[in-house]
Amino acid sequence: MKNPFENAMQQLTNAADVIGVDENVLSLLQRPQQIHEIAIPVKMDNGKLKTFRGYRVQYNNARGPYKGGIRFHPMVDIDEVKALSFWMTIKCAVVGLPYGGSKGGVEVDPRELSKRELQELSRGYVRGLYLEIGPKIDIPAPDVYTNEQIMGWMMDQYSLLKGYTSPGSFTGKPVEIGGITARASATARGGFILLERMMKKLNKKPAEMRVAVQGFGNAGYTFACLAYDAGYTIVGVSDSKGAIVSKNGKGINPYDVFERKQEKGKIYCDKSVCDMKEYKAVTNEELLVMDCDVLVPAAIENQITAENAQDIKATTVIELANGPTTPEADVVLHDKGVVVIPDVLANAGGVTVSYFEWLQNIQNTSWSESETNRKLSEIMTQSYEQMHKSAEKYNVNYRTASFILAIERITSAMEGRGWV
Ligand code: NAD
Repeated sequence: MKNPFENAMQQLTNAADVIGVDENVLSLLQRPQQIHEIAIPVKMDNGKLKTFRGYRVQYNNARGPYKGGIRFHPMVDIDEVKALSFWMTIKCAVVGLPYGGSKGGVEVDPRELSKRELQELSRGYVRGLYLEIGPKIDIPAPDVYTNEQIMGWMMDQYSLLKGYTSPGSFTGKPVEIGGITARASATARGGFILLERMMKKLNKKPAEMRVAVQGFGNAGYTFACLAYDAGYTIVGVSDSKGAIVSKNGKGINPYDVFERKQEKGKIYCDKSVCDMKEYKAVTNEELLVMDCDVLVPAAIENQITAENAQDIKATTVIELANGPTTPEADVVLHDKGVVVIPDVLANAGGVTVSYFEWLQNIQNTSWSESETNRKLSEIMTQSYEQMHKSAEKYNVNYRTASFILAIERITSAMEGRGWV
């Protein structure tokens, strides 16, 4: 699999070449400001000590405190975390948030841990890094295989170490301790707002549109539900174990699939969407190239590649996942006329509502859910229009257009601070 950081740097170069970025600016954008690697010891239920490797990469804070999620996944490595922290830097700038970018990760399969072990690992991550993070320094949030419970444990550990409660230190927390209800659906809602915007532009009705979603977690499942509720036909969904597609064109009810996938008492269920026998089971690879109008990768990186891009049938791709399309595949999709809404905008609803959560925490105030969603919609729509204008101005695809917007904004911040 291609190194995601190399992909990210290729995307940077593609945009920088179009606008002729100053070489001092480029050199600052080509490497993270700080990389932290920690060892996290956990006393396992069998009495043995196991040590996990954890990372926090703080890429760039020209525009404000670092911001980025924490991923728990067996394949986490430093290049992935570097790429994700770079994309966070670009993403926050694309939607105009006063943040820089960072990301964290722990090399672990959380599905193999008991709840107690998982809590100890989460607290250990914070013990190793608490001097490097905080509401004014670097604010983590959930990502793949981390959730609001994990954010709650982490916020508690940070508060214990500081000696006071610090709700603004983490976003994506449970509502009772400073989280906001709109955060859970924010990433998917942001992408869905863009889908609706696109369909309006194309004069398409939801009922005419067949949607396939890869990944059935926070981003993918919630997106499938929003689209299903609005009348789109969900023709395929998947998780790490495989995919299912609708047998008779009638579509899939994502709520039913979720209910069957759930296994009470575990943080991460080990059941799969493939347990639904009324749908046809296929592989994740087959799902990506299935007959559909809208494809929503919502799992991991490097899913649409030079190998399968030519076979993609969808005409619109909404990247809820970070880095699902390689630069080589981008070229193929663009040449085929497939419109790709890039990750740095498509999934920016998550960090935008995280920003709202953080704002409410540090101002000790709270907004209604409808107010939060209205503000999210405003930011997503406005950012889409800005990206569209930039694409027209430079005659480039949406990814390069959004990178150009971000680079211009980060450069202004670096100039304002006297860094370049
Ligand atoms: P999640 O842990 O809630 O769900 C991940 C899903 O991906 C699960 O259904 C899992 O089974 C599936 N998956 C894992 N490995 C897979 C594989 N190899 N093939 C197919 N499916 C696989 O995670 P999430 O929060 O929904 O994140 C999904 C993507 O969205 C990630 O790329 C993440 O960085 C991105 N994202 C999430 C948020 C957020 O707020 N949660 C925000 C921005 C971006």
